[in-house]
Parts: sequence; structure tokens; C-alpha cells
Amino acid sequence: MRDKRYALVIDSRKCINCKACIVACRAENQVPLGHSRDWIVEEHRGSWPKLLASFEPEQCHHCTNPSCVRVCPTGASWQRDDGVVLVNEQDCIGCRYCVIACPYNARFFREDKGVVEKCTFCAHRLERGELPACVETCPSKVRVFGDIGDPKGKLQELLATRNYRVKNPQTGNGPQIYYLL
Ligand code: SF4
Ligand code: SF4
Ligand code: SF4
Repeated sequence: MRDKRYALVIDSRKCINCKACIVACRAENQVPLGHSRDWIVEEHRGSWPKLLASFEPEQCHHCTNPSCVRVCPTGASWQRDDGVVLVNEQDCIGCRYCVIACPYNARFFREDKGVVEKCTFCAHRLERGELPACVETCPSKVRVFGDIGDPKGKLQELLATRNYRVKNPQTGNGPQIYYLL
């Protein structure tokens, strides 16, 4: 039994689109070329010389009610008590139902292995008491990772002082990435 509930708070305004988080994730998790477990959504508004750009980090939202887990016919997609959603490669048959069911496009199919893959919040690093690679690497400290179940924790502290939004709340998936406004 794990007594934590992991989540991410993201302050997109600090993101400089350096993509160090993507490089760090790729190296840490041996993500194959042509795929990515995390990415940056770029938005450009206006026209020169009044161009506005915004950058929003994206990845699996480790939902509290994950549709990917619900549709998986083999139980390969599953959720730990601390909220981390994982794929057990040995049980994955590559049907890709979970890829279609995810409203965040967080999953991809690995042609070389015949299984589906996605962000794990660097579960292997958490076991060692380390932060996910993307969080540790970010030079602007855009991502704050921690236990959202801790009322005195840094995540609740941030969410109490700033307005925020979650993406696609209408899906009922209960996404656990909170974007500060
Ligand atoms: Fe599953 Fe997608 Fe939610 Fe991640 S973001 S837990 S892959 S439904
Ligand atoms: Fe489950 Fe794998 Fe099928 Fe996804 S591709 S639904 S993880 S068996
Ligand atoms: Fe943005 Fe940080 Fe990723 Fe750079 S490392 S793209 S600043 S979230």
C-alpha cells in the first residue's frame, strides 16, 4: 500500500521551449527515435511585430479514472495505489485500444517491441527517491512534482495560491496534471 498520490503542477508561463525535458526523458527511458513520451504544445498568436508564443508541456496525465486502463483487455495497463499508470509489457498484446481511449494522445505503439508505451513518471527513479527526469532537468523549474494528497505539500500550496485548469475534464478521466493560469 502506497500512501502518496503523485501529480504534476505545471507553470507553462516559465517554459522557454528548450526541449531539455524531452531529451532527458528520451535518454532516461530509451525512447525510440520517432516517438516521445513528453512534448511541448506550441501556440502562436498575432502577427509580426506583435507575435505572441506560448509553450505548454504535455505527457500522460496519470488520471485517477484512466480510460486506458478500463479498455485494456488483458490488464496490461494498470494503476498503482500512488496513482502512477503503467503498462506491463509482458501482458500487452499490442491491440492499441488504450491508444485510442486516451484523450491526451499520451501513448504510442512501439513497432520494435509490439507493445504500447508512455510516460511512467519515471517510476524507477521514484523508487530511488529521485524526481522524474523531465522535472529534474527543466532549467526554468516549470514542472513541480509531488504528492497531491499531502495537504501541507508543495502542490497543494501552489494550487491554493494560483488559479489553475486541467485539460479535458469533461472526459471524467480525472487528469493529474494541473496547469497554473
Ligand atoms: Fe491513461 Fe491517457 Fe490518462 Fe495517461 S493520460 S492515464 S494514458 S488515459
Ligand atoms: Fe492493453 Fe496493450 Fe492493448 Fe493497450 S495495446 S489495451 S496496454 S493490451
Ligand atoms: Fe519547457 Fe522546461 Fe521542457 Fe525546457 S525543459 S521545454 S523550459 S518544460
